[in-house]
Amino acid sequence: MSRPTAEQQRVLDWAAAHRRDLPWRGTRDPWRVLVAEVMLQQTQADRVVPHYERFTAAYPDPAACAGAPLDEVLRAWTGLGYPRRARNLRRAAQVVVDDHGGRVPADLESLLALPGVGPYTARAVLAFAFGRDVAVVDTNTGRILARRAGERLTPARAQACADEWVPSGAGWEWNQGLLDLGAARCRPTTPECTGCPVRRTCAWARAGWPAPDPAERSAGVSTPQARFAGSVRQARGRLVRVLGEGPLPLDEVAGVLGWVDRDVDVESVVDSLVADGLVHVRAGRLVLGEPASH
Ligand code: SF4
Repeated sequence: MSRPTAEQQRVLDWAAAHRRDLPWRGTRDPWRVLVAEVMLQQTQADRVVPHYERFTAAYPDPAACAGAPLDEVLRAWTGLGYPRRARNLRRAAQVVVDDHGGRVPADLESLLALPGVGPYTARAVLAFAFGRDVAVVDTNTGRILARRAGERLTPARAQACADEWVPSGAGWEWNQGLLDLGAARCRPTTPECTGCPVRRTCAWARAGWPAPDPAERSAGVSTPQARFAGSVRQARGRLVRVLGEGPLPLDEVAGVLGWVDRDVDVESVVDSLVADGLVHVRAGRLVLGEPASH
């Protein structure tokens, strides 16, 4: 195991001093890490905490989630949004049970084959559950990588830059530290560069922060989301939440959504939920989960 460079040591020291205390950081259980990372895919950490604790209490291992009815898993997900993630997580649990003896696999290829698991989530499980020296590239670390390089990065280049930067034997601490650094210091619009442990080697800061910001449209860096209020995303979430309390006649859906004059939009929301396998229609009513035969 090689010693960290001076820059790596500065980042590790900063990380140790500023680590946020989050419940999934206290476990190396691969299932719990996977649940947390799926929840964190599109939701901020503060909002994830209560949902994570409730979900992992209900489904403490893959077998518990794999054997639960979809409508029950969707109810346990209520409030987090993007319910497709819950469906995928349950399917992933079923693959883990069927193909991996109930244990979340510890290799990249098998992780990437799980429903809903992409390059970020797979590497996060490897780093945070199995302590591997792999690098995670998400919106927070992606900003740091692009600004440090001083240029917008392709996905392959960002992953390569990230991988070669991980200090040997410190995959967990390093990745958690960069996630914290991106969230707290290397922010999208107002990076706080004074005192940043990467300041001395950050090409963008050294050049005087010229426009455009290299993080814009760089690999892993998310773009601002469209307005939530009145969106299809909001309508889908609201409908799933209402269906969690019981079936709903199809002709009442528009009223529930407050979209009484938007038949086409109502239809597309219902169709998208049916296509995603999150709801089904039975005797003129919309029902959460899969038909009984599944
Ligand atoms: S010096 Fe500034 S721009 Fe560069 S990584 Fe640190 S916070 Fe980000």
